[in-house]
Amino acid sequence: MQYKFICRKLINNYLNILIVRTNIIAGNWKMNKNLSEAKQLIKGIKKGLKSIDTDNKRVIIAPTFVNLVGAVKRTRKSKIEVAAQNVHAAKNGAYTGEVAADMLTDIGVGVVIIGHSERRTYFGETDQQLAEKVDRALAEGLEVIFCFGELLEDRKSEKHFEVVENQLRHGLFHLLKENFEKVGLAYEPVWAIGTGETASPEQAQEMHAFIRSILAKEYTQELADSVAILYGGSVKPANAKEIFSKPDVDGGLIGGASLKAEDFLAIVAAAE
Ligand code: PEP
Repeated sequence: MQYKFICRKLINNYLNILIVRTNIIAGNWKMNKNLSEAKQLIKGIKKGLKSIDTDNKRVIIAPTFVNLVGAVKRTRKSKIEVAAQNVHAAKNGAYTGEVAADMLTDIGVGVVIIGHSERRTYFGETDQQLAEKVDRALAEGLEVIFCFGELLEDRKSEKHFEVVENQLRHGLFHLLKENFEKVGLAYEPVWAIGTGETASPEQAQEMHAFIRSILAKEYTQELADSVAILYGGSVKPANAKEIFSKPDVDGGLIGGASLKAEDFLAIVAAAE
C-alpha cells in the first residue's frame, strides 16, 4: 500500500520521532470559483474521495476568503481541510480589506498559505512581512504552508539554491524548532507556476533534498526529516505520480489543476 509512508514510519519510530511526515495535497483556488461554483467543486471532490485511499494523506482546499465559511461547513464530515490563501500579520485593527488570523480559526479554518509567489510579486510581500505573518498565524494556532521558489533567471544563472536558502532564512528560520510542528513547506519554482512548465521530478527532488539539508544544518536532522515539503508548479494528473514518487517530495500545492474535481482527485490518488 503506502510503501513510502511505512518506511518513514519505521525510521521515525526507530529514531523516536513523534511527528510522522504526511503527504499533503493542497488545492490553491486563487481568485477563482464563485459561491455556486465552489459548492459544485467541493461536492465533486467529496464524492470522488470516497473511492480513493486517503489514509496517511491530507487533502486541503484553499478557496477565496468569502467562500471559507461555506467551505468549512460543507467539508465538516469529510477528509477535506480548509485553508486560507493569505492572512494579515497584525492581531487586528485598521487594515482595510485584510483578514486576521483569529478570524480564520474562529470559523474553523486550520491552515493558511503564506508567501505564495503571486503575493510576493503582485502585492510586494517581503521576507520580513512574511516572517511576521508566519508568527501571527502560529501564535493564533494556524498551521502554515510556507511557499518559496526561485525565478527563471535565478535558475538560469544557477542561483536557485542560494535564492531558496535566503527565502527560508529570512522568512522562517527565526522560528524555534518546536514551531515547525505546524509548518509545511511548498517549493514552487516561479517559472513553473501556471505556465505549464514543470520542474522535472529530478529537479524537484534535488531542491527538496537541499531544503532538508539546510533544515538539518540550521535545526536538527530529526526536524529536517519530519517537515513535509510539497512541490508546486503545474502539477497535473499526468505528471503527479512521478513527482510525488521522489523520496523528499511529500505531495503538492496545486493551482490550475485543483479547479476541476476530476483532476484534483487524480492528483490526490497519485500521492503515496
Ligand atoms: C500555485 O499557484 O501554487 C501553483 C502551483 O499553480 P499551478 O499548479 O497552476 O502551476
